[in-house]
Amino acid sequence: MNETAPLMVRARGVVKNFGAVPVLRGVDLDVHAGEVTCVIGPSGSGKSTLLRCLNHLEKIDAGEIEIDGRLIGYRRHRGRLHELKESAIARRRAEIGMVFQGFNLFPHMTVLDNLVEAPIAVRGRSRADAERTAAELLARVGLTGREQAYPRQLSGGQQQRIAIARALAVEPKLMLFDEPTSALDPELVGEVLAVMRDLAASGMTMVVVTHEMSFAKQVADTVVLLDDGEVVESGPPQRVLVDPEQPRTRAFLSRVQ
Ligand code: ADP
Ligand code: MG
Repeated sequence: MNETAPLMVRARGVVKNFGAVPVLRGVDLDVHAGEVTCVIGPSGSGKSTLLRCLNHLEKIDAGEIEIDGRLIGYRRHRGRLHELKESAIARRRAEIGMVFQGFNLFPHMTVLDNLVEAPIAVRGRSRADAERTAAELLARVGLTGREQAYPRQLSGGQQQRIAIARALAVEPKLMLFDEPTSALDPELVGEVLAVMRDLAASGMTMVVVTHEMSFAKQVADTVVLLDDGEVVESGPPQRVLVDPEQPRTRAFLSRVQ
């Protein structure tokens, strides 16, 4: 863990309600630049909602979230928060890559078009430049030469590796993963985790919601257990996953391990 690195994510007292139902009840989260944080917890505990709040796909009801030292979705003016315009939100969101369970490639577009779309549209890159980057990214995820394939011609694991490449194409500062291997056949999980492991080793800051406890144990700097919208326990994987302090963590681990 690198406590001296600047905070890439700083969330304080994040509250999110859906109607009258509290889903996040005052969540604090610190992720230092270059670190991997794995978020674990039971289904319905608020993990996906937390990730969606981090890139302002969901508006929070209280608290604040800074990404790389700047509020996400808001600016502060005379001590009050004002929501940014959609265009400004989109620019900030482009600094954050997100990978979901699956099915997030554009099905009617080739792999190459999936990879160059955002760099051209969001970053204003030239097509030739974006295509060069796409080739590098394909090499990085072990899929060199698959530019002209369509998503349906690829396995789920290959599609997920392309989804990671696509998220990386806009050079994000932070990558969010929401159960990226949960929808995959078991034999395809390893290849996706291997790409994520390489990405972590390259110094990318990552927040990963996962049920892959061995990945969390090996790759995470910090593991956060979310239960019923609260951070129950957080710390190094050797402590949280091996020798947890909280009964709720022990109960969760005994169910999944
Ligand atoms: P997890 O990812 O940990 O399974 P979620 O963040 O998806 O949990 O959901 C947490 C709770 O919030 C669940 O009870 C879920 O039903 C509820 N929820 C999530 N999204 C919405 C929504 N858009 N509208 C209403 N309730 C929601
Ligand atoms: Mg979820």
